[in-house]
Amino acid sequence: MRADEMVNRYFAEAAETIDLPDHLHEVLQTSYRETDVQVPVHLDNGGLALYRGYRVQHNGARGPYKGGIRYHPAVDINEVRALASLMTWKTALLDLPFGGAKGGVNVDPADLSERELEALTRRFTASISHVLGPYRDVPAPDMNTNPQVMAWLMDAYSAKEGYTPAIVTGKPIAFGGAPGRREATGRGVIFALEQALHREGRTLDGVRIAIQGFGNVGTWAAITAAEKGAVIVAVSDIGGGVRRDAGLDVAAAVAVVESGRSVADAVDELDADALDGGEILTTDCDVLIPAALGEVITTDNADAVRAEWIVEGANNPTTPDADELLHARGVHVIPDILANGGGVTGSYFEWTQNIQQFRWDLDDFNARLEKRMKRAVDHTLEMADTWGVRPRRAAFAIAIERVAEAAHMRGYV
Ligand code: NAD
Repeated sequence: MRADEMVNRYFAEAAETIDLPDHLHEVLQTSYRETDVQVPVHLDNGGLALYRGYRVQHNGARGPYKGGIRYHPAVDINEVRALASLMTWKTALLDLPFGGAKGGVNVDPADLSERELEALTRRFTASISHVLGPYRDVPAPDMNTNPQVMAWLMDAYSAKEGYTPAIVTGKPIAFGGAPGRREATGRGVIFALEQALHREGRTLDGVRIAIQGFGNVGTWAAITAAEKGAVIVAVSDIGGGVRRDAGLDVAAAVAVVESGRSVADAVDELDADALDGGEILTTDCDVLIPAALGEVITTDNADAVRAEWIVEGANNPTTPDADELLHARGVHVIPDILANGGGVTGSYFEWTQNIQQFRWDLDDFNARLEKRMKRAVDHTLEMADTWGVRPRRAAFAIAIERVAEAAHMRGYV
């Protein structure tokens, strides 16, 4: 299912929950501004490559537009639009003073040298800089973009406008980045789970967790959960998975991926059993954390999921039909816009520090992240009970209501 179809379905359901007036549907479902630019790049071999770049600003009622920039050959306007609207709902649900945006260039960065990638980033930034600004639109990294790309973006913008670290988040720590931002999504996933369990009188102690995807989100979720007494029984990456009933040595598993190998290549080293790629989703565990790709839990495997809880680290890991099946089976799903909201919350912390030219220490960052994630979980689960709907629908409904209210108070609608 296309990302825009998924978002439209969740929007329609949630709009019904809050009785959203008809005249607001189109305003809140369509983007405010869409910038579509040509991005020519002079290649090292003397040739010229031409790409298409987009920045979609979906809704800015609650604050400056916020959202990542991805470099991927499949980037197109429909996908960027859907992802921009998801950012509007995510920032509203987390109660951050931001709107929602997304950007992208239809390039495979693996085709470009470092110099060509820098040239592309500077050209794209120059072409969209008139719609950016620390109080207008603040990009961040996304698929195939990283702190280095953000540093080039900031430099290109600052060359024109003066030193502006708050123009972008996800920067290197040496250059305005915030300690804690890199770990924030994975840590936030575990704070969300911890609070959901707490509401049922449970802790993470001894809870058995399986994680699909052992990159930034997956590794930090594993590290944080293990610190809190959970048992990481299985993890997987693109090369395959490993399972150890007594619990994996998380530090050893992280060292394997940091050395550039797959966990599947270290079965003996980790004293574990091998798992096939897809098996991780249906392996025996209490909590499943998909933290790799979208649309991995579908109507084909939802009935076979053995976890009691699913905490969505990845964006869109569950299809809407599978989500309904899981709910009917009593599996609790903490939806992506809530569960992985630690990333954009961390970006908010970076932006505030840049604006104040003041650096927080890591403990301060983590304590504020924990408080905000747990507050959002409480509110979402309380409203899910009040409305008698599943948490995903409650999450969208809360967010839409907040954005609609801000737009109305500003006199926009
Ligand atoms: P990453 O590139 O660091 O890691 C991705 C992991 O997924 C890697 O371990 C990779 O091997 C694995 N993977 C890829 N294909 C796989 C497959 N077919 N089967 C099993 N594993 C596979 O990415 P990340 O930053 O950790 O992001 C993971 C997910 O979380 C994405 O959906 C992303 O959109 C979402 N997300 C990330 C952030 C963030 O701040 N990093 C914030 C919000 C959402």
